[in-house]
Amino acid sequence: MIHYTCDRCKREIDACHETRYTVRIEIQASSDPALADFDEDIDHLTELHQVLEGIADDDLDFPLSLPAQIVRYDLCPECHQQFLKNPLGRDAMMAIGFSNN
Ligand SMILES: [Zn+2]
Repeated sequence: MIHYTCDRCKREIDACHETRYTVRIEIQASSDPALADFDEDIDHLTELHQVLEGIADDDLDFPLSLPAQIVRYDLCPECHQQFLKNPLGRDAMMAIGFSNN
């Protein structure tokens, strides 16, 4: 039997009796989409050219080829609800600000 732990509250999730929610977040450095497409086409053509000519250059700069960071979390039903309400954890920061009155 596989045990899952909620990555937010660290509680064990009983997969037999409650739903386990998986949050998958993909983070990618982004630039202007139109510009990115244009640059990517150029890069691929350049790369293809160099491969064909057998002069692949290790120093080539491929900023748009950076892999996306993917993070994955298991959440219990309660934390799933909290996450939906506040995916970036902003309420907690605001609450601290308001409590200083
Ligand atoms: Zn939880």
